[in-house]
Amino acid sequence: MAGETNGQVRLAERTVVLSQLRKHVEEYARLFTRAKAEVGHAECLCRTPAPRLVIRCSRAGRYHLAGWPGEGEHHEADCPFHKLPAVLSGRRDAYSVDAIREGEAGVSIRLDTTLARSVKAAPRTRAPVTQREGLARRTVGLLGLLHWLWEESQLTAWHPRWRRRTWWLCHARLLEQAEGCFINQTAASEVLYIVPPFRPASPEQSATALEMFKNRLGRHGLKEHRGLILGEIKARTLTKYGVGYALAHQRVSLFASAALDERVRRSYRPAFADAGAEQDARRVGLFLVDLSPRGNLTVVDMAVMLVTRLYIPADSSHEVAMGNALAAASRAFIKPLRYDGTAAVLPDFVLTDVTPHAYVEVYGIRGRKPYEQRKSVKQAYYQRQGADLIEWDVTEQIPDLTGRQNPPVRSPQSRR
Ligand SMILES: [Zn+2]
Repeated sequence: MAGETNGQVRLAERTVVLSQLRKHVEEYARLFTRAKAEVGHAECLCRTPAPRLVIRCSRAGRYHLAGWPGEGEHHEADCPFHKLPAVLSGRRDAYSVDAIREGEAGVSIRLDTTLARSVKAAPRTRAPVTQREGLARRTVGLLGLLHWLWEESQLTAWHPRWRRRTWWLCHARLLEQAEGCFINQTAASEVLYIVPPFRPASPEQSATALEMFKNRLGRHGLKEHRGLILGEIKARTLTKYGVGYALAHQRVSLFASAALDERVRRSYRPAFADAGAEQDARRVGLFLVDLSPRGNLTVVDMAVMLVTRLYIPADSSHEVAMGNALAAASRAFIKPLRYDGTAAVLPDFVLTDVTPHAYVEVYGIRGRKPYEQRKSVKQAYYQRQGADLIEWDVTEQIPDLTGRQNPPVRSPQSRR
């Protein structure tokens, strides 16, 4: 996995390879403690001057490095801490400070769903927080959490130096991200099960991990517990009682009622459209699950994300085609995410191997008024920014995406 983990960091004057640090975090505990006490932060060596990194220490005493808030763009495009400026993420406008809080011990997320409810109280699925239209949300929805995990794990980004990305790598990055994270004040590692890659040599390992997660669900004392499962959806099949979702790398399926399945397919139409399959698309789901009396995993709610072959999110099958084409053309790019639906004007993709960054827009449905409006709003926006733009009208061939000396990008002005 060249690149994605090859970066170097400085901890209290010592230079350490990031992948080594992540693999053997306990062995570096003393160095972490010293760096935190003497310097107060770590440094990333992707650039000079070296950008700062936050040293976090979880309640369990495990150390973790994170990008300095708001300084992601100071890192090289292939650095694990690189991020687009906040204006290019739906997160900025979607939530108030209460929804996602970043602190010394990690990140605290308020999910809009109760994960442990008192058995005596009247049943409810939503936390008693009213969301008002047009205002920043005080809680994060399932899609918002999925987008947050993906963006923070840098899975929204691609760089040709990374060569390939599998579920194995997604799992490792997501697990690391979840490590320093709390969901509704509980350690994410306790409530969130990220499907581990199947190891043919030790199939019982995955089964044991899933059993341990299932044991935490259901009634314990006066609380009824639910959990979250994050995995790649392999197949959706009709059963006698509703619908089964088979996940990649996992033998046990998840079950949903026909009514929930219908609502989800309506809400996440592009993710379930047949066109995705032609474009080599994948689907990732975040499931809120209950344990049925018979011990099955029952889906209470879910969010789905369409992703490319390399797990880069996409809003439509056309965007999947563009994402795959950009990777095939050896471009470095990032997909900005909307989180729980914001009105922010976000480009479909941002090319990070040119300075200033260029934008990619995919225009899908012609002749519809909202589409034409959106297109002109975006073109005007890029003109104001002075940013280069690649536009693809899907009724035509994908434009040439290669070459940085003679970039295929052109400014919107020059088209008139
Ligand atoms: Zn860096």
